[in-house]
Amino acid sequence: MDFIPAKTILQKHAHGDQWFGADYNMNLYKGCPHGCIYCDSRSDCYRVENFDTVRGKANEIETLERELQTRKRRGVVGIGAMSDTYNPLEKQYEITRKALLLIQKYGFGVSLETKSDLIVRDTDIFTKIKAGVILKLSITAADDELSKKIEPNVCASSARFRAVKTLSDAGLFTGVLLCPIIPFITDAEGNIRDIIRLAYENGAKFVWSPGGVTLRDSQREYFYKQLDKHFSGLKEQYMRTFGNSYACHSPNKNLAVLFKEECLKYGLLYKMGDIIRGYKKAEVEQLTLDI
Ligand code: SF4
Repeated sequence: MDFIPAKTILQKHAHGDQWFGADYNMNLYKGCPHGCIYCDSRSDCYRVENFDTVRGKANEIETLERELQTRKRRGVVGIGAMSDTYNPLEKQYEITRKALLLIQKYGFGVSLETKSDLIVRDTDIFTKIKAGVILKLSITAADDELSKKIEPNVCASSARFRAVKTLSDAGLFTGVLLCPIIPFITDAEGNIRDIIRLAYENGAKFVWSPGGVTLRDSQREYFYKQLDKHFSGLKEQYMRTFGNSYACHSPNKNLAVLFKEECLKYGLLYKMGDIIRGYKKAEVEQLTLDI
């Protein structure tokens, strides 16, 4: 793996209240090899060249330790927004694991999203972090065959549900990101129902979804190429239905209601504010038990 220079690792989160209560944000790798057909991080605005090639950042653990040590305010560190931190190279380099150890050591919390079941390797560290832990497995298709088409280089959805169960069984506040709901591909009502049911059966505390997919510039180009490869005729349907729209939502207007009803049926949190309060409250309770 190549390592690129990086002056800073930890950044202040500009919209943490809208994104799982994270106070800080960091991406330990640049690029992502998981190949999701809809990936927003491919967009030109982020300027990540050779997106599918993962690179590390030179001296990042040392830099991160310095930054965590000197931050006056402790808080929750978000990981995994622009690049899945549990990529295959993480097995060898353990950069995420080392970063989590520092988060624990300096009294920060963590909010992490991934599609990889490699996350369960770090269960031992998550359980020792006392300042807030929320873990999110991103799952868009209940069916494994479909998940392998749209997220080809990461484990299938069933393995991600098993990861939800392992983390939940360890007492960690874990849930599912149903994100995005891809029109004409994953927006079948049965798929939404199955994901929410499986989340519940595997011990998730929440399911969160922003709805449709966003498409722009090179992200759209890549998406259309993959549609041509795996979903014959769908590119043309997208062009007819959405034109150049940024936000592409399912024509099924019933989905939002169905999503809410299914979450309520299983007692799963689904609103951002409730989810944030849920995991922060869980940590307070844990601390009380520890005393
Ligand atoms: S895992 Fe996330 S960052 Fe990686 S390709 Fe998929 S959507 Fe993009």
